[in-house]
Amino acid sequence: MITVEDALSHLFELARPVETETVSLAQAATRVLSAPATARRDQPPFAASAMDGYAVAGPVEGGETFDVIGEAAAGAAFDASVPTGKAVRIFTGAPVPAGCDTVVIQEDVTRDGNRITVTGPHSGRNIRPAGGDFRAGQSLDAPRRLSPSDIALLAAMNIAEVSVARKPEIALISTGNELVMPGDQPGPDQIIASNTFGLKALLDANGARCRILPIARDTEASLRQNFALAQGADLVVTIGGASVGDHDLVGKVAADLGMRQSFYKIAMRPGKPLMAGRMGDAMMVGLPGNPVSAMVCGHVFLLPVLDRMLGLPAKRRPLKTAKLAKPVAANGAREHYMRARVDGDQLTAFERQDSALLTVLAEANALLKRPIHDGPRDVGDTVEYLPLS
Ligand code: AMP
Ligand code: MG
Repeated sequence: MITVEDALSHLFELARPVETETVSLAQAATRVLSAPATARRDQPPFAASAMDGYAVAGPVEGGETFDVIGEAAAGAAFDASVPTGKAVRIFTGAPVPAGCDTVVIQEDVTRDGNRITVTGPHSGRNIRPAGGDFRAGQSLDAPRRLSPSDIALLAAMNIAEVSVARKPEIALISTGNELVMPGDQPGPDQIIASNTFGLKALLDANGARCRILPIARDTEASLRQNFALAQGADLVVTIGGASVGDHDLVGKVAADLGMRQSFYKIAMRPGKPLMAGRMGDAMMVGLPGNPVSAMVCGHVFLLPVLDRMLGLPAKRRPLKTAKLAKPVAANGAREHYMRARVDGDQLTAFERQDSALLTVLAEANALLKRPIHDGPRDVGDTVEYLPLS
């Protein structure tokens, strides 16, 4: 058995970053930027009014009067210079005319025909300086997972297309004679395959393109057939059949097909029987079958592997800290990821930690990480957890 940290280092060695592709900005959300994107212009490209009001040469005293000689609106500049004592009606986003350095907001003036009088203490200059947001040549650095805010910034930089990592193709294979697909009619001794669906949701939301393959039966022939269907994938994930039971054939069939196994079994709960290696052009990970184990391994191992394939740094997803709201007993010889709920800075681990309980996982928003041989922990102790999204 190896530690979770060692397993992660092995997994990072097995993962190969995918090539890049160009996509339009409208398709770029959640993708990982693979080359820096450089602003093509200043923003704002001119000194712009931040308010609706009157552009004048400051400073302005209360009671001062100005003649209004024209108008500047967004997209329609006032093209002449404004002499002292004159004002231009101006709207938010309009270029501030030459000769002006202050916008008196409309609430601070009274207007009589074309003459305005400043009524009171006016507030600031109300001008956004040219380049105040960013300058041409300024870059958004890569690699970086593009958030909605990043997309807005790239658009403002006049970048219509970006270079991003191709979506890694992941083939998901459930194994087991007892499994049927959701919506099918299960026999009396059968259950529904849930893991492939949960993992597809998790991985697709984090930038993968998952294919759910037909369920493999617990025979060598069926497993071989599914590995053949997985051809072309960057990562093949099998679920179940990875222990040492008579029906656990994944390791054997994968080895027969040339999988060079990097490790098998980790000191982790849930999720001990985890195997990984390379098989032809693909990386292969064999996950345990218990639904919660498979999902926990998805969060702890597959998301960092996916990040690596997308060109992001090889590191685990960041842990956060909270204070225990209820005590927890001492931990054993395996790193334990306990299903838990975090509210504010308070964390409560659920009583029921069986790795088959999907209802408990669905209630959890955190995995409390218990180090190997961690002692009993009391209310108020600071603990580390992995947020679940
Ligand atoms: P195994 O690792 O194949 O021994 O499976 C361990 C447990 O997980 C068994 O109770 C299986 O029925 C269950 N299991 C395996 N694969 C899945 C799956 N894809 N969806 C739901 N449960 C599964
Ligand atoms: Mg099985």
